[in-house]
Formats: sequence, C-alpha cells, structure tokens
Amino acid sequence: MTTRRRLGEELIDHLRLYHDMGVRWMDKPSEESRGLKQPASEPLAAARGPARPQPAAAAPRIFVPATTMFDDLGGVQESLAQVRDDLGDCMRCKLAPTRRKIVFGSGNPKAELMFVGEAPGAEEDAQGLPFVGRAGQLLTKIIEAIDMKREDVYICNILKCRPPENRNPESDEINACEPFLFRQIASVKPKVICALGTFGAQTLLRTREPISRLRGIFMEYRGAKLLATFHPAYLLRNPNEKRRVWEDMKKIRAYLQSLHRAGPAAS
Ligand code: SF4
Repeated sequence: MTTRRRLGEELIDHLRLYHDMGVRWMDKPSEESRGLKQPASEPLAAARGPARPQPAAAAPRIFVPATTMFDDLGGVQESLAQVRDDLGDCMRCKLAPTRRKIVFGSGNPKAELMFVGEAPGAEEDAQGLPFVGRAGQLLTKIIEAIDMKREDVYICNILKCRPPENRNPESDEINACEPFLFRQIASVKPKVICALGTFGAQTLLRTREPISRLRGIFMEYRGAKLLATFHPAYLLRNPNEKRRVWEDMKKIRAYLQSLHRAGPAAS
C-alpha cells in the first residue's frame, strides 16, 4: 500500500471517529495560535471600539472525595521499573493461578495523562499489555482525537490480572493490587487521570455513584485531576455515547493546554 493511500485511509478513519463523537465542524487554528501573527496590542484593540461583553468561562466543577486526598508513599520517589520489580511474579491474590500474563501498564513513564481501567480482558491477558483488543483500538483513536499519541500517555488498570470470565473484581483482589496502582500514579505523576468505566471510577473514588453522574467532572485525586468517562468497551456497544466521551476528552485537552499556557510553575 502506498504511503499516500495509507495516510488517506487513516484520515478517513479519524474523520469517522470525530463524526461518531458528534463533531460536526472544527475550528481552523488562528494565525495567532500558530505563532504567525502577534496578538493585537491594547491600542489597536481600543481603536476597534468597545469590546463586546464576553460570557464568563465556566469554572470546572470540582469536588474532593475525602478518601482520595493523600499520598501514602512518604515522598519516596520510585521508578515504574522499581514498582514492576516489586510486583514480580505476583501471587498476592486469588487471580494469580488463572492469569496468563500480568498486565502492568504501558506508555510514557512521565505522561501528563494517565488512563486507568478496571482489569485486563482476554487479549490483554494473552499479550501482557493493557487495552490491546477492540476497546483498546478505540482508546487509541480517542487519544489521537485530542492530538496526542498513545505513546504520550500512560495506560494501566486497577487490577493487573484478568478476573476469570471477565467477572467484576472482588474487594480482596482490589485491596491486594490497588497499592501498585497508587505507586504507579506516584511515579508517573500525571496531571490528569482519566478513569475508564463504571467500575474503575467507582473503585478509585470509593463511591457507588453511577458513571453517568461521575463522568465529565474534574475531581482532586492523589495530586492529579481525575475525570471519569465511559469505558471504550461500553462505547463499542453504545456508539451514541461517543459524543459524551468526546466532550470529556475536550475538557482534558483544554485543562492540559491551560497548564502549558500557564508555564512550568503550573505544570
Ligand atoms: S491482581 Fe494484582 S495482586 Fe492479584 S495476583 Fe495479579 S498482580 Fe498480584
């Protein structure tokens, strides 16, 4: 296949995803945002006459779950490799005998954006990598829709081993495995954690609120902003919900961009 044809097919794929997500138009980047033109100076702006009143930007709704505002590592800095070493050939819970491979996580060890799902599925269990099945392919497209690449972000799950028949994780399994997720978060230090799906969000936030109420809201979580959204596997079954995920992803992109504009002190 020629490079041009492959690029064309990738472009069509992307446009289909945007369409599925409810995107009907895209803003053309301004010359100012592309650095081709200086912003208008104050006197120039004044010469254009009184500015129209602008609606105040909506402040993100943020609430702070009391149980998630702590860092229990006492300031110790670990690399992901150290955390993985410590996990070893883990036998800490009853999922060990039935798993094929531990799915620790993958991606940029200093990612600004971290995705956290519930547990590996069959494909992930076979390959030892997170989000590699059809849902994983959709997650890759979602990441690319906000102008990032999969290798820019870090992706992992609360549980590192597949529950048999993809049943829901049980509390003793979460208790055994979650400390490793906390250490991954402390090592990566993401600015934003995107919790994927009902179970992932409810477990991280220690709540039974449905994902429909949790999603789309920034919350404080272990030094990062956490935003929950629907799981890509759910989107495969309910493609109409892609629009809401697109809204959530735009919030994440806008927040990260605001950190970059604010400079290194903020980011
Ligand atoms: S799920 Fe976590 S705690 Fe349980 S065996 Fe796998 S790695 Fe160990």
